[in-house]
This record gives sequence, structure tokens and C-alpha cells, in this order.
Amino acid sequence: MTAMYIWIAECPFIDQGLVRPLVTRSGILVLMCDSCGTVWCSPEELETEKYAQPTAPDWSTLCGVDVSPGTTRWADDQDIELTGWPGVAWKKT
Ligand SMILES: [Zn+2]
Repeated sequence: MTAMYIWIAECPFIDQGLVRPLVTRSGILVLMCDSCGTVWCSPEELETEKYAQPTAPDWSTLCGVDVSPGTTRWADDQDIELTGWPGVAWKKT
């Protein structure tokens, strides 16, 4: 079975990562690069300098949620349908 990646854009940093929707423990969706771990709070912020690079011990973001290892998972189709941002053209590969 081929893994499916849901993503919105290539990472703006030169790391060949994909920016993907991530479900946090609170159920809030954030966007995270699967390579460098940078977190954006919404698709609009991808175009801005508003991002966080969460690190131990608090793994905090600018979104009011943390992304501590083991508490998050990549979003699936149902997640982005139910809690994603309206009107986003998600890419799937
Ligand atoms: Zn990245």
C-alpha cells in the first residue's frame, strides 16, 4: 500500500519538506513541515514571517497549542474535511 501524503505547499525553507496538516492533542489543526518541523497556524501565514520552530521542552507554537512528540498525528481526509480551513486546495501524493 502506498502511503498518501496530504500537503499544502513545499516548505519555504530549502529542506525539500512538505507542509502538512497536523492534528494536535487539543484537536486543533496546525501546519507543519515534515522535514524541519516549522509550524504555521493557518494557510495564510505560510506567506508571512509568522511561524514557530518548536523545540523541547515545551514544543510551543504561536497557535496556542503545543506539538510535543507523541501527542500529534498527521491529519487524514476526515480531519481536513471536519476541522481544516475552508477553501484550501490540498495536494495529495
Ligand atoms: Zn521545512
